[in-house]
Amino acid sequence: PAPGARNKLDQQQRRKKIGVLTSGGDASGMNACVRSVVLYGISKGCDVYAVYEGYQGLVDGGDYIRKMDWRSVTGYLSIGGTSIGTARCMAFKTREGRLLAAQNLIKNGIDSLIVCGGDGSLTGADVFRSEWSGLVSELLKADRITKEEASIFKHLTIVGLVGSIDNDMSSTDITIGAVTSLHRICEAVDSVDTTALSHSRAFVIEVMGRHCGWLALMAGIATGADFVFIPERPPSEEDWETAMCKVARRHRELGKRKTIIIVAEGALDRNLKAIKVDHIKDILCDRLGLDTRVTILGHTQRGGSPCAFDRILGTVQSVAAVDAVLASTPDKPSPMIGMNNNQVTTKPLMDAVKLTHEGAAAIESRNFDRALELRDPQFLDELKVFNVATILDDNSIYLPEHQQLTIAILHIGAPAGGMNSATRTAVRYALNRGHTVYGVANGFSGLVRGCFEKLDWMGVDGWTTCGGSLLGTNRAVPGKDVDMGMVAFQLQKYEIQALMLVGGFEAYASLVELDKVRSEYPSLCIPISLIPATVSNNVPGTDFSLGCDTSLNVIVAASDAIVQSAQSSRRRVFVIEVQGGRSGFLAVEGGLAVGACAIYIPEEGIHLPRLQGDVQFLKGLYDTDNPEKSEGRVILRTEGVSNTYTTEVISEILEDEGGARFDSRTAVLGHIQQGNTPSPLDRIRASRLAIHSIEFFEKHTCDALDHAQSICEEAPLELCTNDDSIAVIGLCGVEVHARSIKELLPGTDMKNRKAQEDWWQRDRSLVDILSGRSYFSSIE
Ligand code: ATP
Repeated sequence: PAPGARNKLDQQQRRKKIGVLTSGGDASGMNACVRSVVLYGISKGCDVYAVYEGYQGLVDGGDYIRKMDWRSVTGYLSIGGTSIGTARCMAFKTREGRLLAAQNLIKNGIDSLIVCGGDGSLTGADVFRSEWSGLVSELLKADRITKEEASIFKHLTIVGLVGSIDNDMSSTDITIGAVTSLHRICEAVDSVDTTALSHSRAFVIEVMGRHCGWLALMAGIATGADFVFIPERPPSEEDWETAMCKVARRHRELGKRKTIIIVAEGALDRNLKAIKVDHIKDILCDRLGLDTRVTILGHTQRGGSPCAFDRILGTVQSVAAVDAVLASTPDKPSPMIGMNNNQVTTKPLMDAVKLTHEGAAAIESRNFDRALELRDPQFLDELKVFNVATILDDNSIYLPEHQQLTIAILHIGAPAGGMNSATRTAVRYALNRGHTVYGVANGFSGLVRGCFEKLDWMGVDGWTTCGGSLLGTNRAVPGKDVDMGMVAFQLQKYEIQALMLVGGFEAYASLVELDKVRSEYPSLCIPISLIPATVSNNVPGTDFSLGCDTSLNVIVAASDAIVQSAQSSRRRVFVIEVQGGRSGFLAVEGGLAVGACAIYIPEEGIHLPRLQGDVQFLKGLYDTDNPEKSEGRVILRTEGVSNTYTTEVISEILEDEGGARFDSRTAVLGHIQQGNTPSPLDRIRASRLAIHSIEFFEKHTCDALDHAQSICEEAPLELCTNDDSIAVIGLCGVEVHARSIKELLPGTDMKNRKAQEDWWQRDRSLVDILSGRSYFSSIE
């Protein structure tokens, strides 16, 4: 070939060719992975091939291996399962099958494979890589590939993504698909709940999880079930039937009209005997006389559109997978992309698989403590959350009388999904510890009017699934909107020894005000906690506030429906206004979850050159679309981003500029973002933070109370004055931390009502990259 053509050939040869496949059981979010690998891979100058039908497609080759372009994955984000297909492939387990797979990869010029699947699929991928050079030699010897091909494809790069609904892989906090599955389970249990209530029935619900109880346990916490059975923590009693009946009976005596038992399909007793739903049903019928039904959720748990969390997880992990491919060297072990403490991680794939198998083996050898240790780090904490908030009259966790507290809980600011769950769990755990709990109606404005009401076990029953604020919430900040003296007076009058605030930035501002004047009022010298709850996710001291996940899911559902309205008839750009105040969290993370083509956030503002650039970008996009196809696209705009460039104004500019190419409409999501039913993640986060908040109270009061007891005095009014005893109880990744207001204030932007640094800003540039902004301008 001529020098120019040779050069081009060399370049083509050097161009990275990545294959992506999904394997094993399907999991919602796999499509987000494929989309992200394709788009990010292309934006990095790679060629990306989808291998259809998992390893079977690799073995069969031909049309099963297809080059993808930017448009190949349009619409993938909202589709459940995997659109490129998956399979369990026996042939790939044989050397002959893998020989064919290697030949097909080489013939397509592919030297890197991103595999999304469970531990089996990832093991298969590693086996394939480890014998790669042997396979290449064998193919060469048999003349199935050329010498040149053998020398070019000396190494195979493998990167693993964990797609599995069970969340059963070690070394990662969460697997792709698990949270969507939890959504399906909670929707089903919430539905069963109403019929159970109506008929006063018991339901025994079987959920997936052959070796892992994550789904069962999380569903138990999120739905407020009475009892859960999981493989890695069998009931402690030999006679678990009696233990279960004791709990169910006690709950009925308290007035519950429904009994919900959640059973992982792999649930075991201490002797490794399977615990089966029909047996549980018989026990509840025979011993308690309960009208009991069995519901096996089966494959409904796998289905449906992915939740916001899985879309984001699949997207960011796949970006990391492509980066790992580009950074790989032959001497490095195959990496697995995971998630630890809200950070994307890269760990040796086979170490993770080994630990996962160790977990299953630990169960088989009845080493349940080891099995639990091998789960994600918060699993134990969540197990405790379920137990201590569920079983009443467990004297083992009752505190001595002198350490029992009087606690007040109030909600502040706008409602957010999870506020009620936090309150319910705090009340139940507190009662199990011997404390007394008051609910205060309507925040600090209710507090100064003395709106205190004692909360009991049944009083908060069913709260976990309710949106809004059942206590009533209010934006008043003490010292600003209500008199601080009256706050102190009412706390003293009701002998409150610990105060739990649940709310957003107004609650944070309240904490700041209470902290300022604490030394002036002895009744404020008590531990005060804030559980962050706001859709804006702008409270310093936490990665996630309650309500933000619910809100993201509302945005995702609304955006999917809006885009669908255009798909069959219009070329239309929707400018969707989302909440967030001065925080762009919902627009950035929502933008990733819906595949927005642009976002406008307060942290950046809107300027004419930016708008001009976006108009040009959209014109270019619609110009390159198939003229026969209609296409809806989405822009997310945070409500507080600009007074000039309102949602209407932006849409009108787009409408004018779009001309014949596209039109534009607005959608203001408004208060529906504050949720109806809280998402499972919000309910679970709420419960964990509530338990930690009660523990925080106990930690900061026990010394003063013990001292008073030792000198035979009444509990003092001033229980604690140290800085640490006024704190935000927040999530740092998946870990719960109490961070004092004094520690947080220097990093707080009080004017813009948010932290000075936002972890989610790291995802900002991805929204643009995956929108195709740079890619399309580079090919113009
Ligand atoms: P899930 O968690 O949904 O079960 P998984 O990936 O663990 O997903 P498996 O059925 O165990 O599902 O594996 C999927 C495919 O991976 C198998 O059908 C097979 O093609 C391949 N595979 C699994 N184990 C191996 C292995 N040891 N060697 C080669 N290929 C394997």
